[in-house]
Amino acid sequence: MSDTSELSGEAREGLAERLALVRTSVAGAARSAGRDPAEITTIVVTKFQPLALVRALVGMGVHDVGENRAQEAAAKASELSGTPQADALRWHFIGQLQTNKAKQVRAFASAVHSVDRPALVAALARAGEAAEGVGETAPDLDCFIELALTDEPGRGGVAPGGMLDLAEQVLAAPGLRLRGVMAVAPLNEDARRAFARVREASERLRSLAEDATAISAGMSGDYVDAIAEGATHLRIGTAITGKRPERA
Ligand SMILES: *Cc1c(COP(=O)(O)O)cnc(C)c1O
Repeated sequence: MSDTSELSGEAREGLAERLALVRTSVAGAARSAGRDPAEITTIVVTKFQPLALVRALVGMGVHDVGENRAQEAAAKASELSGTPQADALRWHFIGQLQTNKAKQVRAFASAVHSVDRPALVAALARAGEAAEGVGETAPDLDCFIELALTDEPGRGGVAPGGMLDLAEQVLAAPGLRLRGVMAVAPLNEDARRAFARVREASERLRSLAEDATAISAGMSGDYVDAIAEGATHLRIGTAITGKRPERA
């Protein structure tokens, strides 16, 4: 059954307003940092949000959306597939990813921001080869290496010392394109300081792979700090979508 419901006029208006506000604020933060706003991609994080919201965003000129659960994202992407909206959209997978979901994610995602271990690199590469085996050509998958900025267990990300080894594995894997680094600011630290470490890590990565210039950092509460430290991909949810519905 296909979900063709639409947002109410009021919900749509609120969404358009918040989107416009964030766009203005991102551009302003970029200029304050001496950067060109055009080099920054805002990914709207639509996790837990209904498909109607994704559709409305596309109507407002959004091309990049982010999701953090494989099953939910795959369901949304397949509901949209075959529609004009689908052609305009890139899906970014931003959550922790189990290797047994790699194939499911590879089927719809243009980018995975949470590459944090060798087994996942291998699984994502294999998932692309499997698609080719059935006569399709899997497009290259953009990969961001997720950095752990704290020692807190269970938050995902590779320890800074393991970044370059992991990067080499991505570079060697068929069908994967190393774009750069990704990080989530820790809760107990000044975001700007944390993002400064991400920028340093990005510089180290570029000494290995000069094209891997992307920095995925910055959420609703800290994107201005991320922009100041060179973020090229922001992952912004609630500041644009409004409150998330309770997790199902
Ligand atoms: C949910 C999420 C975001 C967006 O968070 P907001 O605070 O709603 O902007 C960004 N990155 C990741 C990895 C997330 O899981």
